[in-house]
Amino acid sequence: MENSHEAIIEPETYELVQAEFKRRKKAGNCTSAINCFASRITCGDCGGFYGRKVWHSNTKYAQTIWQCNNKFIRKAKCTTPHLKEELIKKAFVDVFNSLIDNKEEIINSYDDLIKKITDYSKEEKEIEKIEIESEVLQTSIERLISENARTTIDQAEYAKKYNALAQKHNNLQKIMQTLIRDIDKKKAKRTLMKAFLKTLKQQRHILKEFDEKIWSATLNYLEVKSNEMLVFHFKDGRELPGA
Ligand SMILES: [Zn+2]
Repeated sequence: MENSHEAIIEPETYELVQAEFKRRKKAGNCTSAINCFASRITCGDCGGFYGRKVWHSNTKYAQTIWQCNNKFIRKAKCTTPHLKEELIKKAFVDVFNSLIDNKEEIINSYDDLIKKITDYSKEEKEIEKIEIESEVLQTSIERLISENARTTIDQAEYAKKYNALAQKHNNLQKIMQTLIRDIDKKKAKRTLMKAFLKTLKQQRHILKEFDEKIWSATLNYLEVKSNEMLVFHFKDGRELPGA
């Protein structure tokens, strides 16, 4: 029984984690903020991505900023602010350094936290229960079919009984699929959290300047709120405000 649903879970988890690794590998190669920040900064108003603009591009006052791509497209314009690229970098350095400052504490509490957040023993128990219920239902369906073959029972009555059992069985399968997906998500989350922790462990000193590799390895996305607040969403699910 254990093996039967393990086999179903693995490929999907595998794909999720592979997609993340691919993204990370690509991000690891990023040579400029252009591809590091693209699709990583979201607008708190419309949920869309921020895009890059260069102001006064041919002058000595040239300045790179990021703003919501929908800012001037939508009828109800987004009120989220544009951000200077330098400010984004500085805010990230500050937030990441606060993680470094609490590194020991984070590392010490992390194993327990990972276990707690990604524990799927409850779902596994549910699945076992459903598997037993399904077997019982299956037996009832088989019995009904053979009874119908041996004796002359009212066909309308037979169809009614059969449909009721089949419906129950279908519902159980649906619940089971949901449980399998939940387990899958928790497994993928565990992988991401462990990768986040690994990056943090490897970082021995606080950042003196912006580091694209660390941004890509640890940050899920940066959300910009309309009140100019920044919220860094890290890959382990941690949300930290930025200045
Ligand atoms: Zn927007």
